Amino acid sequence: MSARQLTLALSKGRIFEETLPLLAAAGIEVLEDPEKSRKLILPTNRPDVRVVLVRASDVPTYVQYGGADLGVCGKDTLLEHEAEWGGAGNVGLYQPLDLGIARCRMSVAVRADFDYARAVRQGARLKVATKYVAIARDFFASKGVHVDLIKLYGSMELAPLTGLADAIVDLVSTGNTLKANHLVEVERIMDISSRLVVNQGALKVKREALRPILDAFARASQPQGVAA
Ligand code: AMP
Repeated sequence: MSARQLTLALSKGRIFEETLPLLAAAGIEVLEDPEKSRKLILPTNRPDVRVVLVRASDVPTYVQYGGADLGVCGKDTLLEHEAEWGGAGNVGLYQPLDLGIARCRMSVAVRADFDYARAVRQGARLKVATKYVAIARDFFASKGVHVDLIKLYGSMELAPLTGLADAIVDLVSTGNTLKANHLVEVERIMDISSRLVVNQGALKVKREALRPILDAFARASQPQGVAA
């Protein structure tokens, strides 16, 4: 692929939808709706720019290895990816921008009838189910709380209801999912938003093609603070 061709990795759903206005600000329009098409490579109005649809947790991998030049993924996904590689320094992804999109928070939730504060005070060993093992491990270690982490890939809300775990660590947006499952949020671990990540090689070789897009994204995004 030529030094002018750019591939952008996105995941379907909230990140895709909320990246569209940023792409529009860069003069880029995706020509197919991923909800209506089965295609994984979507053309844009620019012959030199295409979008590839991947799982959210695969975005950093695609960009790291150069399967995509740039991508958008949540801070949660990035932190878990970096932990797998033993730290951000080993991953080599350039993270120029907090885009301020797909905002939510990472929280601890328990059954409404579970006295979390008391269990923590008494130094109980907690069983915590989560997809976000690295974030959960760091958080409870920083609090000095002993936990047994149980890795799940989805439907975390079910874990405290079935006795699999005392608590979960999950993303919360409106809080409706917790409420519907009689769970309550007891700790807010961190605010989450999506970041732009860029392949470091592409940044050098495709700088001219990337620059206007990075500039347009920076102008159009509303970060919730300085990118971590
Ligand atoms: P809510 O009911 O609005 O609090 O949304 C919670 C559910 O949506 C949980 O299952 C989360 O895993 C998921 N969720 C919420 N926000 C996001 C996000 N920004 N990215 C990915 N998943 C999310």
